[in-house]
Formats: sequence, structure tokens, C-alpha cells
Amino acid sequence: MINLAIIGGGPAGLSAGLYATRGGIKDVVLFEKGMPGGQITGSSEIENYPGVSEIKSGLDFMEPWQEQCFRFGLKHEMLAVKQITKSGSHFVIHHEDGKTTEARSVILATGGRPKRIGVTGEDTFWGRGVSTCATCDGFFYKDKEVVVIGGGDTALEEAIYLTKMCAKVYLVHRRDGFRAAPVTIEHAKANPKIEFLTPYIPLEIKGDNTGVTSIVIEHTQSKQTREVVAPGVFVFVGYDVNTQVLAQDDGSMLCACDEYGSVVVDLSMRTNIPGLFAAGDIRINAPKQVVCAASDGATAALQAIAYLDSVH
Ligand SMILES: Cc1cc2nc3c(=O)[nH]c(=O)nc-3n(C[C@H](O)[C@H](O)[C@H](O)COP(=O)(O)OP(=O)(O)OC[C@H]3O[C@@H](n4cnc5c(N)ncnc54)[C@H](O)[C@@H]3O)c2cc1C
Repeated sequence: MINLAIIGGGPAGLSAGLYATRGGIKDVVLFEKGMPGGQITGSSEIENYPGVSEIKSGLDFMEPWQEQCFRFGLKHEMLAVKQITKSGSHFVIHHEDGKTTEARSVILATGGRPKRIGVTGEDTFWGRGVSTCATCDGFFYKDKEVVVIGGGDTALEEAIYLTKMCAKVYLVHRRDGFRAAPVTIEHAKANPKIEFLTPYIPLEIKGDNTGVTSIVIEHTQSKQTREVVAPGVFVFVGYDVNTQVLAQDDGSMLCACDEYGSVVVDLSMRTNIPGLFAAGDIRINAPKQVVCAASDGATAALQAIAYLDSVH
């Protein structure tokens, strides 16, 4: 029986491991299916982490995290977790290889993944002009024109956010109507920097060795194509949270999740199941930023320490 299992080795899981082990918990294991680092390792640039003034690639940025986070005794098992179940007062971690680990407490930090549109060029230029985060990457397109794809609240809110720094935002959506809140639609329509391109679907993202150069879109009715020249394409077509591990054999979830699948937590990162915490992009209302995920991980670890003290 280990004291704490941390599932996922992104910024949230690594910070949780640092705080838990440095806080004196013995037998803390980080289960990460790949190399620790998380989603940010797929990014070519990060420049909004306080205290790190140099612009770094996500891989270089996360490298010292591992060295620091493992310094105090955190163990790393390179194993994918399939399911977490409850057995009496403790948890059972079921691994993909059929093995199980018993744990007194668990911090779930499996993150998520922005959905992709699936057009030619999207993967090639992912992180090199194709982005899913206006807060992260908007500043790189200061005074330039960008394209936003999507029609929900996130797409419209991020389009409005991008107008604060970009010269112009083309909003491409496959329907004339939007799924966003009426007030958000009103704000977007009143914004002179947003040009609505509807009903259009993206066909191809083009670029060269500098990154994205344009996007080809097709009118859904006339089938006419148009090429919009822009160095940045922001995709906001949904987000998948990695909560599959919470699914129980009877179809229920181990703890409460909201309608988007995000784990419901309080400000201490506690779920409704004592001893089970969630941190980072997986939790409700996550700002989906490295600094926020790291902070969640630290909060969850401090709460796990308090929880373990209370049950021992
Ligand atoms: C291209 C890109 C650029 C970004 N740029 C920025 C930026 O500039 N600034 C910024 O602040 N944020 C940026 N972000 C967002 C940032 O990366 C995330 O907010 C942050 O990584 C979330 O951390 P996390 O620990 O919650 O989850 P993640 O980073 O998603 O880490 C989760 C980890 O859990 C592991 N995992 C998942 N399921 C399992 C399982 N079943 N078993 C074992 N392991 C599992 C995954 O392998 C992964 O390593 C960017 C994201 C992307 C995709």
C-alpha cells in the first residue's frame, strides 16, 4: 500500500509530487504513461511562465522540472493507468498491463487534449502557427492578422481576446448561427476587428519553414474556396478531458464530473470522494495554463498531506 498515487506527469502531477515528497510523505508514486512533462512539451514556445524570462520550447522548459520534482524521493512508474476504483477506505489503481497498486490517496492530474479539426497541415504546423490557446500564443501575433475556427463560447471569447493584440481576426465557422451565449455573440459582432466568415469549413492549412502562411476554406453551400493569408490559426472546436480512468464497471464515474467531463473540485482540489484530488486541466474551470496547473498540483498535495494525517 502506497500513501499517494499521482496519475499524470504534466505540470500539475510533477508539482504535486514535489510538494508531497518535500512535505514529508513517504511512498509517493507518479504514474505517467510516457515521459513526464505533459502537453506543453508539444509546444515550440512558452513565454508566460513567471520567473522564466527566456522564451523556451516546451521540452526545454519542462526538463528542470523533472530533476527538481524527483529530488525529494518521488518515484516514477512509466505505466498507463486504466482505471481507479475504491476498495473500503483505499483506492486501487488498475494499470494497462493488468497489475494493480493500492493507495491511501490519489491525485488525478491526467490533463486533457484540445480537439483537432483534422485538415491537411494541422499536424504539420501544430505549435508553429496552429494553436489552441489565445492566452499562450496570441502575443506572438501582435499587430498581425489571425484566423479563429469554431462557433462556441470559447471560440468567440478567444476571438474577442485576440482583437486586443492582433490587427484583425477572421472567425471561420461552418454555420451562420453560433452556439455561444447571446451576449458573447453580440460583443463579437460589435467588434470592428472581427470579420465573420460563415458558413465556411477549413480545407487546408498551408505554410513553409517559418510556420503557417494561410488557410484555405470552403463555403459550405456554394463550395467556392477562399485562401485567407494569416500566420496564425487558432482552433477552438472542443476539449477532451482525460477522465476515462474514473469510469467504473457499472458505467458510473468514481467522483462527480460536470457536463463537459471535467472533475468537480473545491478550491482545495478535493473531489467529493475523501482522499481523491484532481489538479490541472482536468478539473472544472481550469484556466488551462502551466502556472495554474502547477499551482493546483501544489494545492492538491498540501491537501493530501492533511488528509493522510487525518486518517492515520
Ligand atoms: C501546443 C500547446 C501550447 C501551449 N502553450 C502554453 C503556453 O504557452 N503557456 C501555458 O501556460 N500553457 C500552455 N499550454 C497549456 C498547458 O500545456 C496545459 O495547461 C498544462 O500542460 C496542463 O498541465 P496538466 O498537468 O494539468 O496536464 P497535462 O500537461 O495534459 O499532463 C497530463 C499528463 O498525464 C498523462 N496521462 C494522461 N492519461 C494518463 C493515464 N491514463 N495514465 C498515465 N498517464 C496519463 C499524459 O501523458 C500527460 O503527460 C499549451 C498547450 C498546448 C497543447
